[in-house]
Amino acid sequence: MLFDDMRSLLARARNIAIVGAKDKPGSPVDHVGRYLLNAGFNVKPVHAVRRQAWGIPAARSIAELPEWGFDPDIICLFRAPQYCEAHARETLTLPRLPMIFWMQEGIRCPEAGKLMAAAGVKVVEDRCLQTVHAALFDDRTETFSCQRCGKCCEGRGGIVIGPRDLPRLCAYFGLPAEEVLARYAENLGGKPTLKCGEDGFCLFFKAGQGCSIHPARPAVCRAWPFFRGNLVDEVSFAMARDDCPGIRRDVSHAAFAREGFRYLNDYKLRGDDPTREGRALIVDERELPAGARD
Ligand code: SF4
Ligand code: SF4
Repeated sequence: MLFDDMRSLLARARNIAIVGAKDKPGSPVDHVGRYLLNAGFNVKPVHAVRRQAWGIPAARSIAELPEWGFDPDIICLFRAPQYCEAHARETLTLPRLPMIFWMQEGIRCPEAGKLMAAAGVKVVEDRCLQTVHAALFDDRTETFSCQRCGKCCEGRGGIVIGPRDLPRLCAYFGLPAEEVLARYAENLGGKPTLKCGEDGFCLFFKAGQGCSIHPARPAVCRAWPFFRGNLVDEVSFAMARDDCPGIRRDVSHAAFAREGFRYLNDYKLRGDDPTREGRALIVDERELPAGARD
């Protein structure tokens, strides 16, 4: 598959079912699962015996995914080759076929590949999804480079813990959702938000170090400074540029908005549920300034 095709498929994918999932520290599947959670994907573990991985309840089989309301864009297999054909047949029973049937590094199964390809599903064999994703998506941008000053980690109420953030925080702390929320969140405006310490900074901000939960930080933190207001409104953008030394001084609003919108899409940060996600993440392409739309 061509580089651009794969990048475009991975940018569009949101839901990944990991078959053979387990959160045993040091195992390849644990590494990859945590990476995919941190990269913003909705991950659903699938395992015949284990009841959960990374704090997320597991489905017993691919065929059971619809009962969980999970509609996978990618089936990612950590299974020996002799089981892959059966997993391909199970995949064919799903109400909507995934975009990609992905066999991890060291796994090849031509029979499964033929079944999936005949159904119009892209097939990847013997490749690590984490390695490919990391190579295709580089989070450096032209218009912004964080200077770690910590200004954006100060102030109460802005860091909403959205539905896709919670599993990542649970996996990071090794705690169930109720415990994570009880320890680290308060309800503001009907949404769980990260608490502040007595110094007025986010509980997880450490002076001289920065964010102490960087891989698991919520989507709002990942998205800054590409917030809706800064993308759609030039005055907000100018104020953000004054406050945040990471935004390049010479960048135009249109260039910033164009790159920011692409960034939100690439990293699955755009939201669509104002009742549960930060409003700063909900951006409609039609709101962008002229010159920022592709
Ligand atoms: S204000 Fe800007 S430069 Fe400073 S930590 Fe936040 S994003 Fe980075
Ligand atoms: S979670 Fe990390 S990045 Fe987000 S506000 Fe707290 S310290 Fe800053």
